[in-house]
Amino acid sequence: MAFLVRKARRVTQPTYLHRVADRHVPAVRAVFLTAVERAWAATDPQQLAIQHDFAGNGIAWNVFDAELDRSLDVLRLVVRDAAAAEVRSLNRRGLRIIAKQEDDPPWLTLVLDLLNPEAILFAARSANLFRQNLTQQTQQAIRAIIVRAQQRGLSVTTQQAEIMELLEAVFGLNERQAIAIDNLRLRLVEGGMAEARIAERVRAQAERYLRARALMIARHETMVAATGGQHAIWQQAADNGILAPDQQRSWLAAGDRRVCPICLSLDGLMAPLNGTFLSTYNGVAYAGPPSHISCRCSLSLAFD
Ligand SMILES: [Zn+2]
Repeated sequence: MAFLVRKARRVTQPTYLHRVADRHVPAVRAVFLTAVERAWAATDPQQLAIQHDFAGNGIAWNVFDAELDRSLDVLRLVVRDAAAAEVRSLNRRGLRIIAKQEDDPPWLTLVLDLLNPEAILFAARSANLFRQNLTQQTQQAIRAIIVRAQQRGLSVTTQQAEIMELLEAVFGLNERQAIAIDNLRLRLVEGGMAEARIAERVRAQAERYLRARALMIARHETMVAATGGQHAIWQQAADNGILAPDQQRSWLAAGDRRVCPICLSLDGLMAPLNGTFLSTYNGVAYAGPPSHISCRCSLSLAFD
């Protein structure tokens, strides 16, 4: 492959990556919500009661994991679309990437190469992490609720219906959300509200939390994948001599007042392709965004 390179001039927040990520948010969100629904449907209350050991071992975590695996297909698309968008952007910005085949769109060769096998490996890694973290956080929440119930003198064996109702409400939430639901329930009970109304209020609030969590997760995971697709293109460009081995990347925070101190401390920092960005705010070295949940930062190649 022969490529001609001209240096780009302008550095702007690459909003096209956010657009690629946003397009796939509903699909990832749906994978998560379906995983919650199916895993709970596959959970046998008897098993949960028999196997309880403060860990929620009776829950069908295998179903949860298997359902979350479906996100791999979506994240792979995100990687591919982000990679294509990055090449188009580089071309627009004046970094000409011209493949030997003049008929092909200039970005095609790189993207095709990318799909095989680097992007897939990346997507697999990303989906694996996604699944592990989610399962772990969801398990922690269940554990916390069981421990709290037992501390209040409820036994999984004797007060099974009560605990199952609570677990059903919080299943799929993270620990902080689950505890908030548990506290809400306790407050309503203390306030003397009728059982049926309490159950209704608790379910409604848990549903809101679950939807918020699903959206947050989907936004985060699609941005991780989009940033990965962008990085894979840069890596491939560097491997092919299109980018200099010491090519710098710059960290770009969203330019508004909602930027958090972590991202503000990273804004404008430069790092080589496989280097890290050190935050002076929290001392953490980041390979790239997102630096936290709901991070809206991105990276751009830095040229003189
Ligand atoms: Zn950020």
